[in-house]
Amino acid sequence: MRIVQKFGGTSVANIERIQAVAERVKAEVDAGHQVAVVVSAMSGVTNQLVEYCRAASPMHDAREYDVVVSTGEQVTSGLLAMVLQNLGVQARSWMGWQVPIHTDSVHSKSRIDSIETDELVSRLEKGQVAVIPGFQGLGADNRITTLGRGGSDTTAVALAAALNADRCDIYTDVEGVYTTDPRIVPSARKLDKITYEEMLEMASLGAKVLQTRSVELAMNHHVRLQVLSSFTTAPGTLVCDEDEIVEKEIVSGIAYSRDEAKVTLIGVADSPGIAASIFGSLADASINVDMIVQNVSEDGTTDMTFTVGRADVDRARGVVERAEAVTYSEVRVDSQVVKVSVIGVGMRSHVGVAKTMFEALAEKSINIQVISTSEIKVSVLISEEYTELALRSLHTAFGLDAE
Ligand code: ADP
Ligand code: ASP
Ligand code: MG
Repeated sequence: MRIVQKFGGTSVANIERIQAVAERVKAEVDAGHQVAVVVSAMSGVTNQLVEYCRAASPMHDAREYDVVVSTGEQVTSGLLAMVLQNLGVQARSWMGWQVPIHTDSVHSKSRIDSIETDELVSRLEKGQVAVIPGFQGLGADNRITTLGRGGSDTTAVALAAALNADRCDIYTDVEGVYTTDPRIVPSARKLDKITYEEMLEMASLGAKVLQTRSVELAMNHHVRLQVLSSFTTAPGTLVCDEDEIVEKEIVSGIAYSRDEAKVTLIGVADSPGIAASIFGSLADASINVDMIVQNVSEDGTTDMTFTVGRADVDRARGVVERAEAVTYSEVRVDSQVVKVSVIGVGMRSHVGVAKTMFEALAEKSINIQVISTSEIKVSVLISEEYTELALRSLHTAFGLDAE
């Protein structure tokens, strides 16, 4: 078998843990498997590097940002290769540019285009372990790129797809994918299996256990993806097709995202073309808009509310203030909001999920500010101070609590 193993930041946080990781790699090698390993930077290191960039230059060049923040993974891949060699395992590190892992040139959030595998495959076939830093690649501009925060997951899945691996094992600091973030809701339950679709929604709605792009790639390339703990031997969570799951829940999980800010325009003229003008201007400024609500108008004006990522909120306000042909009486901005979403493929065939959700929140007197739905999820925007209360109440209301 050919396996890709990925170890996250806490799993390689110090030399002792890197030694434990090496033992897990060695176990797969001893079992006769070909192994490629993807590592993250030691936990906290990438944050520190990002901080250095901010301190050096608030408006820094994204190409140089990538040069700096990609270094954390270079350190851990070299260290793991050394420790593996000490255990008598043949191992060699390969930086993103050496493989190469080709990406586009959208620095700081690049996408992988292709991975050259000939050399890697011939080494794997000779029994050598390839240790590859996650998160980094080689841009079309011939410079180092990075894949966005949490991007090592994507390196691992893309590599598993390119190498035609039998399995991609994502080792992290929890035992798998849970019904919701186990650090916030202690009664969260580990899922044995979750569909690609649900995992994709969970990730894009805030569950950072897997980077969204990695799930997308796994789904498109049918990568057998598993999330498990590097600290225990408990079985993890398999991310798979819907037909592999026998007992389907209506709601499989609850996700939350604090990366939200709400912008409200009060007293907007209620006439054709206004929405096009507001959201057209935001799109031109590359600002991603998520939820949108518009009220009915009684006096020829209406209130328009939308959400953007927190980092974009000041820019969004500026764009709206400058947008031509948009008149309003006031702009209000609120960054103390959180988006909470319930997710489940069972929603396609069951009604009443939104009702249960709204009732559970009402019972705790949590006000819903904005709602959005899709086929397999319902999201609400609420005040950030109620994050934990909302997650716990919804978890209980949907019968997800562990016995
Ligand atoms: P790594 O460094 O291994 O990549 P991350 O911190 O990126 O780890 O992701 C693991 C974390 O994701 C967990 O510690 C947990 O707090 C968080 N998380 C959020 N939602 C979930 C969920 N539904 N299931 C499991 N973990 C989750
Ligand atoms: N080290 C990078 C980050 O912290 C990539 C990763 O760990 O997945 O975002
Ligand atoms: Mg991660």
